[in-house]
Amino acid sequence: MKIELTKNKKKKPDYSDLGFGKYMSDHMLVIDYDDGKWGEPQIVPYAPFEIDPATQILHYGQGIFEGLKAYKKDGKITLFRPRDNILRMNTSAERLCMPKLDTDSVLEALYELVRVEEDWIPEADGTSLYIRPTMYCSNVFLGVKAGTKYRFFIIVCPVGAYYANGLSPTKIFIEDFYVRSSIGGTGAIKCMGNYAASLIGQEKAHKLNYDQALWLDAKDKKYIEEVGSMNIFFVINDTVVTPALTGSILPGITRDSALKILKKDGYKTEERKISVDELIEAQKDKSLKEIFGTGTAAVISPVGEFAFKDKNYKVGDGNMGKVTEYLYDKLTGIQTGRIKDEYNWVVRIK
Ligand SMILES: *Cc1c(COP(=O)(O)O)cnc(C)c1O
Repeated sequence: MKIELTKNKKKKPDYSDLGFGKYMSDHMLVIDYDDGKWGEPQIVPYAPFEIDPATQILHYGQGIFEGLKAYKKDGKITLFRPRDNILRMNTSAERLCMPKLDTDSVLEALYELVRVEEDWIPEADGTSLYIRPTMYCSNVFLGVKAGTKYRFFIIVCPVGAYYANGLSPTKIFIEDFYVRSSIGGTGAIKCMGNYAASLIGQEKAHKLNYDQALWLDAKDKKYIEEVGSMNIFFVINDTVVTPALTGSILPGITRDSALKILKKDGYKTEERKISVDELIEAQKDKSLKEIFGTGTAAVISPVGEFAFKDKNYKVGDGNMGKVTEYLYDKLTGIQTGRIKDEYNWVVRIK
């Protein structure tokens, strides 16, 4: 691995007001692929890429990414399930005809980058270093076909809470026209175009004063899928229900962690189809107790209200529910080392 350190370190941002994804660190990791193989990992000063206007990614969008976090406490640095992110990136790569990464050497390079950027990891509660691995096709060619050259890179940035209003409940809007993904499509992988296609739903939700769009299945527009950057969970009576991974939903690592924690701690869980009709019925007969979203950026995000076709529905009393709070405390506790990790999820790199 080549490491070239910068001579011009940036001034650190105010760690008490980080927001999300605003301040990039001093270095990045770059690994280029050509001629059927990956080159040497390079940690270099953070800088813009020079990109030819005919580069494939700018036209046909052969690009994928990941998102994970590093935490720092008393000089120790930890990551949460990093191998699962690289394995998922390889699943994404396969779907878009991109080369697979060598998981072990990429993880090693990722750890080294985080150690180099140690000073960029904030330590206050709720803060972390967000890590963004990305891969795109770098061939300069306008033909529509899978490329032969790729660039894999990782950038990192210190982040605060994902939502400006922290853990206060969000409002979601159930989108009944646009769809995010369909079976056989790319909804189950983290590819760039999925997010471009979902922006319109988000804008529509924002215009109507909701925080997020909740997507339905493309075929029947009847079954609940996910929020588009988060998976979704419902507490109905004493059962925690989440849509099954049918091929159009992103298999979230936070989703998986939440299910494993709930099962181990004695909660009843179900992964199955859940329709909007069932949700509305459950809200009406008061068996719907809680809704929450799961994802790396926000970890656990309570939902206090949802809307479907001009009607508004309150979830419970509109505040964060018990299961949501339990899961938030447990999961962030494991991630930050406050609670013992019985799952081997936390990887200490320093
Ligand atoms: C990343 C992502 C999630 C959450 O996945 P995590 O691994 O928990 O961060 C959920 N849905 C979509 C569409 C995503 O891109």
